[in-house]
Amino acid sequence: MKEIVVISGKGGTGKTSLVASLAALSETPVLADCDVDAADLHLVLEPRSRHTEDFSGGKSARIIPDKCSNCGKCFELCRFEAIIKDDSKQPVFSVDPIACEGCGVCSRFCPEKAIEFKPSINGQWFISDTRYGPMVHARLGIAEENSGKLVSLVRGQARKLAEEKGLPYIIVDGPPGIGCPVIASVTGSDGVLIITEPTVSGEHDLERVAELVRHFQIPAYLCINKYDLNPEMSERIEEKAVSGGIMVVGRIRYDRSVTRAQVKRIPVVEIDDSAAAEDIRKIWEALAAEINKNN
Ligand code: SF4
Ligand code: SF4
Repeated sequence: MKEIVVISGKGGTGKTSLVASLAALSETPVLADCDVDAADLHLVLEPRSRHTEDFSGGKSARIIPDKCSNCGKCFELCRFEAIIKDDSKQPVFSVDPIACEGCGVCSRFCPEKAIEFKPSINGQWFISDTRYGPMVHARLGIAEENSGKLVSLVRGQARKLAEEKGLPYIIVDGPPGIGCPVIASVTGSDGVLIITEPTVSGEHDLERVAELVRHFQIPAYLCINKYDLNPEMSERIEEKAVSGGIMVVGRIRYDRSVTRAQVKRIPVVEIDDSAAAEDIRKIWEALAAEINKNN
């Protein structure tokens, strides 16, 4: 089984469209949407959920009003300013659930044992069926963090499904950026496909993600989306990639059929006579050949 993670330095580079097409091209993959902060793979693949579970990324505090003596100790001790003091109410002190970092100090030192410290529900994760294969995806609650932990959970569940069903590929829609969720989505994978655009920020994004995958010694591959909008810049980015040990697996032309596919909510490879689809097919062939050769 091979796990391929598609990432981009930032959002809006066509990453999810590419993942949806790879889902259609690879043979019954397990799909994992690790872009948990802004999951949108489901918009194209229209999954039917068959399993839902709460996700707890940590604990949070809550003051039990009947037990609180308003001594103010928790207010003094909380270094995240997550205890709110409001003299117009009883009890005077309460916990701001968004500011609470879940350190547990207030609960430990409350003289009245008036502070509950329980696992907080930060989101949900799902196993669903799509027309291409099973998909693991998640939804993080508003203003919730710990997405690195949720990304690891989604990947772990996708791996379990692939093992159980003996499926050959896990295709991961990775989060944008280079932070903790991205690290959680790429470490230990068989290969990372970087998608970028021929712009100055695309070049900069490539440098950032290239450094990350080099650090974790993961085989990396590049494709440039809408490369023909700036062929000189595309060449420059590809040269940088190659000199940094990243293999170029293809280029995708600017093509209006991509928008048509988005409107129809289908992967672009399902649109007839699409130039972008032809490019993506070649990318998949090159990528699959390399991934299976390298591992
Ligand atoms: S430390 Fe406990 S008793 Fe004191 S104000 Fe906080 S919750 Fe209330
Ligand atoms: S658990 Fe920690 S961060 Fe949260 S309110 Fe208590 S002391 Fe503050």
